[in-house]
Amino acid sequence: MNQAMSDFESYLSDESRVKGNAEKFFFPENDADISQILQFAEKNDIPVTVSGGRTGVAAGAVPRGGWLLSMEKMSQVTGFYFDSLSNEYRITVQSGLALSSLRGMLQTGRFCMVKNPVRYDFESVEKYRKSINNWIFPPDPTEPSAQIGGMTATNASGAKTFRYGPMRNYIRAIKVVLPNGEIVYLRRGEKFSGKSNIFQYMPLLNYSIPSTKHACGYYSSNEHDLIDIFIGSEGTLGVISEIELALKHVEGERVETVAFFKDHASVAAFVTGLRLKAAVNDDFIVESIEYMCSKSLNLIEADSKGWGRGGMAVFAGLRISQNIASTLESVQQMIIDSNGDPDLALIAVSPPDLARFSSLRHLLPEKVNDKISQRRKQYPKLTKLGTDMAVPDSKLEEIMNMYTEKLIESKLEHVIFGHIGDNHLHVNILPANTEEYSKGRELYEFFAEYVVKCNGSVSAEHGIGKLKTYLLEKQFSPESIVQMKNLKKYFDPKWLLGRGNLFPE
Ligand SMILES: Cc1cc2nc3c(=O)[nH]c(=O)nc-3n(C[C@H](O)[C@H](O)[C@H](O)COP(=O)(O)OP(=O)(O)OC[C@H]3O[C@@H](n4cnc5c(N)ncnc54)[C@H](O)[C@@H]3O)c2cc1C
Repeated sequence: MNQAMSDFESYLSDESRVKGNAEKFFFPENDADISQILQFAEKNDIPVTVSGGRTGVAAGAVPRGGWLLSMEKMSQVTGFYFDSLSNEYRITVQSGLALSSLRGMLQTGRFCMVKNPVRYDFESVEKYRKSINNWIFPPDPTEPSAQIGGMTATNASGAKTFRYGPMRNYIRAIKVVLPNGEIVYLRRGEKFSGKSNIFQYMPLLNYSIPSTKHACGYYSSNEHDLIDIFIGSEGTLGVISEIELALKHVEGERVETVAFFKDHASVAAFVTGLRLKAAVNDDFIVESIEYMCSKSLNLIEADSKGWGRGGMAVFAGLRISQNIASTLESVQQMIIDSNGDPDLALIAVSPPDLARFSSLRHLLPEKVNDKISQRRKQYPKLTKLGTDMAVPDSKLEEIMNMYTEKLIESKLEHVIFGHIGDNHLHVNILPANTEEYSKGRELYEFFAEYVVKCNGSVSAEHGIGKLKTYLLEKQFSPESIVQMKNLKKYFDPKWLLGRGNLFPE
């Protein structure tokens, strides 16, 4: 293959803006291609990095030499059917399918199928089209160019994870090409699969993981379900080539409110109020609870036109099938009870208004990244320091106070935003120079240690990638990390796949 490096420049980095290098670039079109590439690489000791939509922020898809394997040519649907046992539609897709394409197909009921789909049931498709508005695919990592394979490899989640859970909850089966080239098909609930016996002597993982949202290290649970080990494995155990996804049945209209508060105690009271009401009242469905601190609101003020008037914002995403007015009245009462100003609150009901709220939330991390890109012109090694930590419900107000106190003390520029429903806030520190970067990095480590003491997770959704490998040992004991490394060695004795991800090189 004659490859001019400049043609492939964009494959050398992801949204972390870290730049890597690779000797060759591959774009497999089927499982056999992947298998051949991996077998050749293993024989010749060549490291391979799997690349998805490159929306990751931890440099997991950034190669450090060796070969790069992009999944973008495997982007079709391979099956669609209704599973009557679980009462859910299932769609099987190749891993390089972008989330935006999947959404487009689910919204129209028209699927871009491979030539000979394995499980395509025309009647199911017809039935689906008639109830299309009652089915959703909830995982939403904000960036719609993320691929389903990348989302599987990072156990992606998003705003609606508050109600519906992360990617793991929607994966019913996967096809994986192992580092030795073997192709295996794993269905949820199976401990062993197909003709392969590679799993027979696999070391088990028996450490515990936080009960909060969590995406750090290999998944361990009493169920020892094989599929779970590959979900969230960040391109280190195998190349995921196909995924069977479940759709979620929903009723009612989406409505979103934004309420403004003056302090953390009020924010925490409102979030707790929403959670409690949703827990005891089946008709009060809260899909997402998101947050922006006052500095975040200032950063998007030019586009929001008025949201920067002070305070902190909490977005509540509701799904209402009963009386919209009475549901909104309850929310209004909760705002009052939590010392918020109900007159400042905003409501989005129409699709354009809902889209505007969502695009403002997307705009914020983009503004942060733009600021850092500007500063990198003077200090090329500078990156933003974005935390991704979650704590249990009882620690929400404490963690918000701690973050703010320490950040003010450090005088570092920062914003705090994110998935407050899961007590999962992104603290973004924006260093102005290398000295500030070092100071921010120390603070980051302090936050991680604090979060672990609270029984939380040091990475709730972005994963560890190459940039946060030092966090693994903050979260897990040395014995647990040895278990993870043994698992990695079992599948990939030469440590070639996703080298540098999870474990430092
Ligand atoms: C503005 C912004 C907001 C974000 N918000 C969220 C959020 O709310 N929630 C969230 O979870 N994430 C979020 N992310 C991070 C990112 O979008 C997710 O991690 C996403 O799931 C990555 O998918 P990808 O296809 O881009 O993967 P990539 O970035 O290409 O790769 C990620 C990792 O997966 C591996 N990988 C990719 N494809 C495969 C495959 N087929 N087989 C095996 N390994 C593979 C790679 O080697 C790498 O280690 C955000 C990112 C941005 C830029």
